[in-house]
Amino acid sequence: MSTPSSDTSLGAGAEFDLIRSMRERWGELAVGIGDDAAVLRPPRGDQLVVSTDTTLENVHFERDWISWREVGYRGVTAALSDLAAMAASPAGVLISLELPRAALDGVSDLADGIGEAVRSAGGKIVGGNVAGGEVFGMTTTVLGFAWSPLTRAGGRPGDLLYVTGALGGPGAAVRAWDAGDKPTALHRIRFAHPVARIAEARWLAARGVVAAIDISDGLGGDAGHLAAASDVAIEVQLDRVPRVAGATEDDAFSGGEEYELLLLARAPLSEAEFAERFGIPLTAIGRTIERGADVRFTRDGKRVAAPAGHDHFSR
Ligand SMILES: [Mg+2]
Repeated sequence: MSTPSSDTSLGAGAEFDLIRSMRERWGELAVGIGDDAAVLRPPRGDQLVVSTDTTLENVHFERDWISWREVGYRGVTAALSDLAAMAASPAGVLISLELPRAALDGVSDLADGIGEAVRSAGGKIVGGNVAGGEVFGMTTTVLGFAWSPLTRAGGRPGDLLYVTGALGGPGAAVRAWDAGDKPTALHRIRFAHPVARIAEARWLAARGVVAAIDISDGLGGDAGHLAAASDVAIEVQLDRVPRVAGATEDDAFSGGEEYELLLLARAPLSEAEFAERFGIPLTAIGRTIERGADVRFTRDGKRVAAPAGHDHFSR
């Protein structure tokens, strides 16, 4: 792609053959690949929003869990989800691959998964890199534009806490795999095929959301990040957290890689209008109480201790 690797373990010819084969699969989704760098034209007045994310075999997933297509789709979607959290529109994606020889047969499927993620979120594939490696790794850099990006820091006491979608699916899937079981189809698809909530975030940002984060570390951890950045105490009503069927409270609380959004809003949002428009729920699950970073929990209106989430999701 734009910057050929100095690592020649794939062989220079093989490397460019790979890049050509991926570019063919992407068609007009790939632009500018072949120049030394990509050129993007920001809409006048918009700000550039940039993020990067790596997915590593045996750290973030295991090869017998998901297909190469899902590896590509999921890795790129995870990076795009950070643009969603900022209410930015994706403009460009750069993909940097480390491919062990065993992965070479999967490159077409991988490219199709990458293409599917970019096609569904918006934007173009504008560059990247391919190198040989011991294990599979993919680093996705995403470039987006937003007139007024959301941050984690916009909250203040008196805000309402919302979450998109239903949680716990990825947690339940990994719990099953770790136990040597097969996850349910629903849990598996929530792990393998998350959705970056790009359109949802822009809709919400236009309707009074003042701070957001995407749930990659788990509801508990990411509520903590939001509380710290906004310097507020967040109260989470555990009994209101929406879960996918069959997911435990711990799956929903401690499980990560949801790529749903956790949001603070100054005034009530229309949950019905959101659900109608996007086909997923928007649920009020708490509020901010006072200054001072903290996360507190209630169940049936009573203060309870933090759920004892064991960290089965450091992967
Ligand atoms: Mg994030």
